[in-house]
Amino acid sequence: MTGAFALRARDGAARRGSLRLAHGTVETPTFMPVGTAATVKGLDPRELVELGAQIVLANTYHLWLRPGRETIEAAGGLHAFMGWQQPILTDSGGFQVFSLESRRAVSDDGVRFRSHLDGSEHEFTPENVVAFQEALGVDVAMALDVCVKLPAERDEIAEAVRRTTLWARRCAEARTSEATLLFGIVQGGLDLDLRARSAEELVGLGLPGYAIGGLSVGETREECYGTARHTATLLPEDKPRYLMGVGTVRDVIEAVDCGIDMFDCVYPTRCGRNGRAMTRRGEFAIRNAGYTRDFRPVDPGCSCAVCARFSRAYLSHLFRAGEMLGPRLLSYHNLAVLSTVMADARDAIARGQWAAFRAAALDALAAEGDP
Ligand SMILES: [Zn+2]
Repeated sequence: MTGAFALRARDGAARRGSLRLAHGTVETPTFMPVGTAATVKGLDPRELVELGAQIVLANTYHLWLRPGRETIEAAGGLHAFMGWQQPILTDSGGFQVFSLESRRAVSDDGVRFRSHLDGSEHEFTPENVVAFQEALGVDVAMALDVCVKLPAERDEIAEAVRRTTLWARRCAEARTSEATLLFGIVQGGLDLDLRARSAEELVGLGLPGYAIGGLSVGETREECYGTARHTATLLPEDKPRYLMGVGTVRDVIEAVDCGIDMFDCVYPTRCGRNGRAMTRRGEFAIRNAGYTRDFRPVDPGCSCAVCARFSRAYLSHLFRAGEMLGPRLLSYHNLAVLSTVMADARDAIARGQWAAFRAAALDALAAEGDP
């Protein structure tokens, strides 16, 4: 098996590891930029390499509908199609399908849904989402799961756990490729007993990695991290742990502190497109009047290629003028910030300085005044 997770260091619950995948080794903890439609919006893959991205996420639901499996296979797989030679993780499409609500029907067989593009009917089964992800040639495939929007009744969450285990087992049996690792997704909402049941059942399948799903879906930050911290303790030490849907500076630091190794979120690129700058001392809106004559970099503490060359005033101008370079530059910078935070976190854990690093990082975010 190509996938081997090596735990290099521990400091409290925080972990420093390496995940060996078919297209390269990912140093953890790591943030995965989201490339929903086989593109991290606005960025050339060369820029992703430059800013320190190690692995990107793409989306089964969207690629299934457009351009479809045949086109990507004809291109020689997803890596060749999108011009990215480092690891790719695809989600199973479960999360997107469940957010369709009125346009889907779920049974133990799978989930039938209508495309948001043209209303055409499709079905995801545990078997066909594994076959699709393997056909794309991705490094990590996610099992089909049932994600419940919170708050929800216990019965509904318990049913989602039951079906998620059933589908994960069928996904595991459907695997045909050694190059694509299958991760299971622990569900259970905020109910710690159901989380324990879900984790125990999935760990019993002996998968090479586990995600914690069903969080960042409407609960408070305390509920999210309380649940993630507890669930992480139920997962094997020697397998990577992935918390889905986390991507602010504060949230990735808290997730690392919970013992999580991988995260993804559209947040940094969505903010980048909308003119919201992320820094290690908080966030700000680049269009605000105060920045039109501010000739400092977006983040004076950032060493990215955008901060090295451009000012807040210039980016503010680009956004105000509706120039496409503005969203591109700010997306680049926001991803670079998370990439550097992760690199510094890995270093702090390896040196046994995690608690001090975390405290200083959270203090900087909480500090008063201009970021
Ligand atoms: Zn920067």
